[in-house]
Amino acid sequence: MRKKLLRVIGVTVLILILCSCGSSDGEVLFEEENYVGSINSDIYHYPECKWANKIKEYNEVWFSSIEDAENEGYRSCHTCNP
Ligand SMILES: [Zn+2]
Repeated sequence: MRKKLLRVIGVTVLILILCSCGSSDGEVLFEEENYVGSINSDIYHYPECKWANKIKEYNEVWFSSIEDAENEGYRSCHTCNP
């Protein structure tokens, strides 16, 4: 009985360690997403642009750099001027 409990605690600790690693990976990924565009247009924005905020989450395309966006055939927004 006691042995089983210790095993459960061990598994829980392991899951917690894995989860904390996962979230820090997410933060790194987020830092690389500096520009956002829509799959329905060919314009990219700063995420804080009013037009970027109108893009539905499921239509968002993220780019790490201007070069990245332009390689994908996107051009800069005239409102936020990235
Ligand atoms: Zn914009």
